[in-house]
Amino acid sequence: MSRSLIVQKFGGSSVANPERIKRVAQRVVETRRQGRDVVVVVSALGDTTDELLELARQISQDPPERELDMLMATGEQVSVALLAMAIEELGEDAISFTGAQVGIRTDSSHTKAKLIDINARRIQQELAKGRVVIVAGFQGISVNQDITTLGRGGSDLTAVALAEALDADACEIYTDVEGVFTADPRIVPNAHKLKSISYDEMLEMASLGAQVMQARSIFVAKRFDVPIHVRSSFSSREGTMITKAAKAMEDIVVSGVTLQRDEAKVTIRDVPDKPGMAAQIFKELAAQDINVDMIVQNVSREGATDVSFTVVKHDLPATLRVARHAAARVGAGDVATDEGVAKLSIVGIGMRSHSGVAAKMFEAMARERINIEMISTSEIKISCVIRKAHAERAVRAIHQAFGLSRR
Ligand code: ASP
Ligand code: MG
Repeated sequence: MSRSLIVQKFGGSSVANPERIKRVAQRVVETRRQGRDVVVVVSALGDTTDELLELARQISQDPPERELDMLMATGEQVSVALLAMAIEELGEDAISFTGAQVGIRTDSSHTKAKLIDINARRIQQELAKGRVVIVAGFQGISVNQDITTLGRGGSDLTAVALAEALDADACEIYTDVEGVFTADPRIVPNAHKLKSISYDEMLEMASLGAQVMQARSIFVAKRFDVPIHVRSSFSSREGTMITKAAKAMEDIVVSGVTLQRDEAKVTIRDVPDKPGMAAQIFKELAAQDINVDMIVQNVSREGATDVSFTVVKHDLPATLRVARHAAARVGAGDVATDEGVAKLSIVGIGMRSHSGVAAKMFEAMARERINIEMISTSEIKISCVIRKAHAERAVRAIHQAFGLSRR
């Protein structure tokens, strides 16, 4: 019978300093001494990636993306080497690799490269020699032999992809929280840790700002059915399993409440109410790579209507420029922005089979006298835009209304 193989990924906060690196080494060695093969993926120490980006910014406002990747990839090269030393120090054999060395091949879209394939042979050879294999997260090598990175938070993707390529028995993501919670515990003190959550729900929650794992990595995990265990690197408690929908979850309608405060609302006033206007406006925004989230168009009066939409704040200056231009082209009125909004969402696969979920969410807000400005829904999600000043109160009310408080 083949030996059991586990992939363990440690995020930047878990390896932020030498003490923590030693603690990670301890945990890896414990796993190894249970007789398992271990492949470890690590992120850069602490805030290294941000610091490297800041360094680049002091040199150039618009650095070549190839060079940004060259720079950012150094962060993970530091952490793998240090972790290998720490494991050797504890008496186990370990060897560190860059992404390129273990054949993590990507396309050449620098800073957000897509994985093409992984050549697992080198890793398997080293495992067969009884070594712990440590792989730099977040990086690969393009078909042109250039170093690439996989987008911020990309070490999660490295871990999931390696677990798939090596047919690992488990993929553990170690982080600085205990798992996936029903809401941000800083906002809802009685939020509780979920035992398990489905890929689809986690994908929504990750996209909605629950910063537990990179959204792309969940997407890949779902596609190849790689079960993930998200857990804390500071305790030995069980975390949250991310898997295909489990039976036990079926009576739970809502799994989590999320809050995003990084969106802004843009309103174009007096858009002529005739065919082609929305097409023109949103085509211009798309051409500038501006991602529009929620959209509402009000009922028209006297042949004109207001169109509102949300974008991430980061895109607001560009959005304003494009929206003003588009408004002028279609003969609309002025463009207003509003940064005082927040987006609150509930996520749960139970919504597929339960009715009245939206009503319950809206009622909870009505009781709190909170006005809803925009609404959007998908099969397993309902989002509302409200005033930011009321956002935390709304999250608590909704968390309570769906019975999510600690059981
Ligand atoms: N160090 C990279 C980042 O901060 C990758 C990662 O942490 O997963 O984005
Ligand atoms: Mg990081």
